[in-house]
Amino acid sequence: MAFKLPELPFSPDAFGAFISEEGFQYHHGKHHAAYVNKLNANIEGSKFAELKLEDIIKQSHTEKLPAVFNNAAQHFNHSFFWNCISPKGGGEPNGKIKELLNRDFGSFEQFKKDFSDTAATLFGSGWAWLMLNDENKLELGKFANAGTPVVEGKKPIMTIDVWEHAYYIDHRNARPKFIEMFWEVVNWDFINKQI
Ligand code: MN
Repeated sequence: MAFKLPELPFSPDAFGAFISEEGFQYHHGKHHAAYVNKLNANIEGSKFAELKLEDIIKQSHTEKLPAVFNNAAQHFNHSFFWNCISPKGGGEPNGKIKELLNRDFGSFEQFKKDFSDTAATLFGSGWAWLMLNDENKLELGKFANAGTPVVEGKKPIMTIDVWEHAYYIDHRNARPKFIEMFWEVVNWDFINKQI
């Protein structure tokens, strides 16, 4: 069954200076849409066509099929990222994630710094991820291009897209500004549900 571009879980004009409506028109309406379309074109009629997205990502990674892997992983990563932001988000974490961040990073402030540094220092295009490893500990991941925790057997918890296309329309080359504003909209409710 063909994959579909998911609708954004919010109105595209709800984020003000963080991502504008035009920013979403390109990032979601063109970039994400292109990954979904290319994924469908690359799996049509193949053994991947009936698999779940995570299984397509893992198998195409193992079998070194970049045309399938890159588009499948980018579809997964973008769908996850849209859920990590909310016009009602921001502020301090609550619930289980607050507990685990304190346990594994010492404090929310320390985590915020470490996650921001991971995102800011990623060279070129990619993703910063917060993940749960197989010892049930939170850890940070710096993934180039379409990289994703799915192929490492780690549980995806939270992510930020730091491809240039994610911030260039609204922040030009100022990736650190984009990262700083992410904290004003980070969706702790969704993140708590991933644990
Ligand atoms: Mn993107």
